[in-house]
Amino acid sequence: MSGLNSTSPAVLENLNDEDGLIKIDFWGVRGSRTVTEPEIITGVGGYTSCVQVTIGDKIFVVDGGSGATNFGNWLFGELAKREELTLHMLFTHKHIDHWCGLQFFGPLFASKKLTFEITGSEENVEKFHKNVFDGDTFPVDVSMLAARVHYTPIESGAVIVVPSTYRGQPENIVIEALSVNHPGGCLGYRFTFRGKSLAVIFDHEEVGPDAPEELQQLERNLVELLRGVDLGVIECQYHEFEDEPKARYMKGWGHERVSHLIEVLKSAQVKEAILTHHDPAANPALVARIANAVHEGSGIPTTFACERMSVVL
Ligand SMILES: [Zn+2]
Repeated sequence: MSGLNSTSPAVLENLNDEDGLIKIDFWGVRGSRTVTEPEIITGVGGYTSCVQVTIGDKIFVVDGGSGATNFGNWLFGELAKREELTLHMLFTHKHIDHWCGLQFFGPLFASKKLTFEITGSEENVEKFHKNVFDGDTFPVDVSMLAARVHYTPIESGAVIVVPSTYRGQPENIVIEALSVNHPGGCLGYRFTFRGKSLAVIFDHEEVGPDAPEELQQLERNLVELLRGVDLGVIECQYHEFEDEPKARYMKGWGHERVSHLIEVLKSAQVKEAILTHHDPAANPALVARIANAVHEGSGIPTTFACERMSVVL
């Protein structure tokens, strides 16, 4: 963690807790596009969404944004230690900042030890063939991958049970998926293991009170995913500070803003929150200011994700 933000002492205390049940590693924390400007990325990071979740002997990753390239480099080390390895990738949605890193995800090309299990909505799973490795706009097609690739299409409301172990005993990991409001759809995921819970929710936007029932349901889904979780990893790309009222002119782009997130976190009674999918134009001071505003407004310990940050629950 960068030390730029100290709003969440409970999370900081847990950073080196090797006995934790759920480990979260942030490989990409930007929304929309990769950023390289030093004044923007220093202390936060510039790669797009990729969050590793390790539970028991299982490795999950939520999305494969440009941060996935470095995640792949790390995974080579794990592959070297094992006979075989299954990576469970949970896709949130099809927008490019959530899969562009897979095109440079080394283990897919180089490791026959890897089984790559992709879970997501049917059209997202299809995108893996049609966009990520189409052999046309990208030189590699899916048949050229060394890893075995399996697909599991799911719908909102799906509950995935992954058998694992805890201290040598069988123990299930339960993952619930629900749709949240974003153009083209977006799945949020909630992990539960031995009573600990984590929600990872990237792109979503407030649904107004006059919206139709099907959109109201997406708003309820957002709260359900977060209800009582030990940690909510969630986006808050926009703010309503007086110097850059981005939330107003980006309405309809599908992203969260400070005042709405405060209400959501409070109504879901989240125990702690880490903000991610930072706006590509947000410098470290603004990222910290947004996290502080959410913390102060909600009363819930809230900090912001930095690239290479690890948290243990
Ligand atoms: Zn995004």
